[in-house]
Amino acid sequence: MCTCTSSRAAIPCVEKRRHGFRTFETAARTRFTVTSHSISADPLEILKAGNKRFVAGQPQSGPYGPNVAQFASDPLPFATVLACSDARVPVEVIFDQTPGNVFVLRVAGNVSTSFNLASIEFGIEAFKTRLILVLGHSHCGAIRAALGSARDGKTYRGHIPEIVDAVAPSVEAARDVPGDWAENAIAHNVARTMHDIVSGSEMVANAVEAGDVRVAGGIYNVATGWVEFT
Ligand SMILES: [Zn+2]
Repeated sequence: MCTCTSSRAAIPCVEKRRHGFRTFETAARTRFTVTSHSISADPLEILKAGNKRFVAGQPQSGPYGPNVAQFASDPLPFATVLACSDARVPVEVIFDQTPGNVFVLRVAGNVSTSFNLASIEFGIEAFKTRLILVLGHSHCGAIRAALGSARDGKTYRGHIPEIVDAVAPSVEAARDVPGDWAENAIAHNVARTMHDIVSGSEMVANAVEAGDVRVAGGIYNVATGWVEFT
């Protein structure tokens, strides 16, 4: 039973969840019923609630100051989020999550790579994360770069073409879809990455099939702050 007594709403939750997670791990081995409210909570609902607080301008996380020490012990994130590197998409901020709550991977275009898959698997193996969220966003520069290549023949230097090539199939898939080409490509790219994660990792596929892990998608609107979940 958690004995946290802090009065701060966001900070004690971490300890409660930590205790709950340990309870969960024990329960998983012994097949006891999990009773912790924090474990029974849907990780996606936790993120949705945090995004709602962010948009409302009513975050519960921080300011930290000396309180940051409470998050220094081994983290037990409840979700893995694969997001774009875009500077307007600070994952913990838009979901109002304290340090240690979310295992975050970021790469331009939020595409699936071997290192991302390894990290996602690490999240499952080490932390038993129950949710993998692929997070795209409006006005994505990676998608726009690929759009510029497909529509205008733009070329890019260095390793940038690797990102462009990775999202290009989504741009092509959205070419004839009614509506805004870029925004449709962003949505397709999220779905495609979700598929790539499951098809590219036997560990993820098995965890999904067993009901231990859920793969979800979302698109963050950089203008409103809302995440639309798919
Ligand atoms: Zn982006």
